[in-house]
Amino acid sequence: MSNFNSMNSLTIVMYHYVRDLKKTTFPKIKGLDISLFEEQLKYIKRFYNVISGFELIEIINSKSKLPPKAMLLTFDDGYSDHFFNVYPLLKKYNLSGIFFPPAECITANKVLDVNKIHFILASIKNEENLIQYINNRLDEYRDAYNLESNEFYMSKLGKKNRWDSAKIIFIKRILQLELPEKLRKIIIDDIFEQYVTNDIASFSKELYMNVDQISSLHSDGMYIGSHAYSHRWLNHLNEEEQKIEINSSLDFLKKIGNNTKDWIMCYPYGGYNDTTLKILENYNCRLGLTTKVGIANLKQDNLLTLPRLDTNDLPKNSNANPNKWFLKT
Ligand SMILES: [Zn+2]
Repeated sequence: MSNFNSMNSLTIVMYHYVRDLKKTTFPKIKGLDISLFEEQLKYIKRFYNVISGFELIEIINSKSKLPPKAMLLTFDDGYSDHFFNVYPLLKKYNLSGIFFPPAECITANKVLDVNKIHFILASIKNEENLIQYINNRLDEYRDAYNLESNEFYMSKLGKKNRWDSAKIIFIKRILQLELPEKLRKIIIDDIFEQYVTNDIASFSKELYMNVDQISSLHSDGMYIGSHAYSHRWLNHLNEEEQKIEINSSLDFLKKIGNNTKDWIMCYPYGGYNDTTLKILENYNCRLGLTTKVGIANLKQDNLLTLPRLDTNDLPKNSNANPNKWFLKT
């Protein structure tokens, strides 16, 4: 690998839940155990140079070079895990993180549909029953929403990916994207109430950070970026709707004390389109993070569509040898 490339390569790691899984009410939630997070931080300290969001923006604006093996640690969705579990460990290892809270959850005590789905999946004993339940609801709404057959959805969506079985992927995909948005919400809320809780506000307060916690992260040098307002798929919204989502999130960033010149965007579900990029350029967004898997290269990539790695792409053992993603930097 040439020096030219290596000085522009930036490894961006994405985290979601980080918790003491055995001790939580939902031990089956797909999250990273705190002890493994700490092991991974030690691994990262051995091989990478973690920079902060502020440092990265400064490097881009001043056209200076990244440190070798530069890395960003990013934490999506504003979980209270990030305040109680991640933040103390970042401090312990003198590292900086970038946090992307979806504004509506924090300010209006909502729970993201994607989170409802995670907790539904962590609550069920048997995914067959849930699929049967979803199919019954599809039967009920088929005519009103002009739906396809149940078999059609299963064969289209039920394909396993890097982390999940075909059945789990079917449940996630049909509830996250495939059905019309209005119907998705009806079915998700119904299942969430049945399997998890009907007290959304309390659940939200426990699941996400509050404004004071996010402000204190910001005051302590952690970077807070935009994860839009209500965590919708931006690429499925028209221009006006996208502007509302983005503007509302910028109001939130101002509220917690970040400035909204040269800010960082993280697309909910990794979804964006040309309209999104045009809006972001007009709004002085400097960097956009996707869920494409890879190592970013600041010279070659569009800065508004940078790829990331998942925490599961890196070792969770402090003594591990560098893996293939290190060799690509
Ligand atoms: Zn998200």
